[in-house]
Amino acid sequence: MHQECKYLIIGSGIAGYYCLKELLTLDPNAHIIMVSSDSEPPYDRPPLSKDYLSGMVSREEAFFNEREYKVPNLELMLGREIISVDPKRKLAFLIHEGTWAPDIARWDWESPSSAIFDRIHFEKALIATGVRPRMLGVKGEDMAGIHYLRSIRDADAIRRDAASSKSPLVVGAGFIGVEAASSLIRLGLKPIIIERNAYIWATLVDRAVSGIIQRQLEKRGMSFILNDGVRYFSGRNRVEGAVTSSGREIAADFVLIAAGVLPNVEVASNSGIAFERGIPVDRHLRTEYDDIYAAGDIADIDNPASGEREHIEHWNKAQYTGRLAARNMYGMNQPYGFLSTIWSDILDLHIESAGNTSRYDRYIMRGDPDSASFAVIYIRGGAVSGYLAINRDNNELNALNGLISSRADISGKDGLIANESHNLNELMDKR
Ligand SMILES: Cc1cc2nc3c(=O)[nH]c(=O)nc-3n(C[C@H](O)[C@H](O)[C@H](O)COP(=O)(O)OP(=O)(O)OC[C@H]3O[C@@H](n4cnc5c(N)ncnc54)[C@H](O)[C@@H]3O)c2cc1C
Repeated sequence: MHQECKYLIIGSGIAGYYCLKELLTLDPNAHIIMVSSDSEPPYDRPPLSKDYLSGMVSREEAFFNEREYKVPNLELMLGREIISVDPKRKLAFLIHEGTWAPDIARWDWESPSSAIFDRIHFEKALIATGVRPRMLGVKGEDMAGIHYLRSIRDADAIRRDAASSKSPLVVGAGFIGVEAASSLIRLGLKPIIIERNAYIWATLVDRAVSGIIQRQLEKRGMSFILNDGVRYFSGRNRVEGAVTSSGREIAADFVLIAAGVLPNVEVASNSGIAFERGIPVDRHLRTEYDDIYAAGDIADIDNPASGEREHIEHWNKAQYTGRLAARNMYGMNQPYGFLSTIWSDILDLHIESAGNTSRYDRYIMRGDPDSASFAVIYIRGGAVSGYLAINRDNNELNALNGLISSRADISGKDGLIANESHNLNELMDKR
């Protein structure tokens, strides 16, 4: 099979979906093909560890509204995988539906045989292949009862299995592990969370702030084992427990492994497109090939504001870069200009973070850290460099985002920043 399209979108996740929506607005009659290895139509991911997992949102509600994107000029190829791209000839290759290709790695990509490959010729293509859960690589990891969470089908399987669990174990206390644990609590379970780092959210905060967050989570029913990892899982056909690196034995009839992710770089690596952690792109989201773009979790972006290459795996960036890629595929030549923000919902805690929270001179606490509403504000070189905020209002969050983006001089203003009755917007006005 050989097909032609103006725009090819590889991946139907957040970046792919928002690229599609933007293209449908900008170029409504263009022929678009979206290919996704996911066999379900596009859906949102954050609810999968939160309201969908805890049964507060129905399956129908988890999907994006078909009426917003189903048009005759869009061809949606679900459950299909792009294997490689020929960037010069602007061809993408997929294995024929139903064909068994035993050793894809040995194929000669210079002349892929049309006997097994379908081809799509495109004018512009977006790679939005995202990431996949990292496996632990330990004995017993493939037993029944052990799960990962990325897709809606994963969430369905977790819901089915968790329903009868008496001793759930979550491996990894990052955002997804903690969010999923909070959903298990909503379902009436008492999960244990094991984390190999000495404290939780170690890539985002220091030990002291981590301790404050951990206490908030413990108050809400979470139990942590820190500084210990899973050495192997025990059980016959189904998981019965885990033995940790320190030799501890934990009973577990259900396990969710949320131990980080690996970028899906295979399309790039099979195609001779450069990749590092993800796929490096310039400020217009172009790869080294003019007509091939990357967005979302897979894109490593040269951020003009920081002068640094950023690898960010969060929803807001995926949405922003999906839309920006569409505008540039359409020919608008717009540069990246985005302050990366992160959010999470864990039971009644709404968490927001932006900027850099790991490189700072000092931080200021605004609000009472023992309450469920406070912000940790990071200062570097006389300006706000980042923050982590729990249950703070939008006015304050917008002011903090403005302070980070404008790099307003806040020297000598620590007292005002810590004072909750002082409006942070005023610090910007008095630059
Ligand atoms: C359970 C969960 C909860 C989350 N909650 C939050 C949150 O609260 N806040 C937040 O900021 N972020 C959250 N995230 C992260 C956020 O969802 C991701 O940053 C976002 O989904 C990234 O979008 P993406 O399009 O780059 O990748 P994805 O959404 O992962 O989409 C990648 C797509 O590419 C497809 N694909 C991969 N390889 C191929 C191929 N070779 N050919 C064709 N298709 C392919 C996949 O099937 C998938 O459709 C969460 C993630 C998960 C999994």
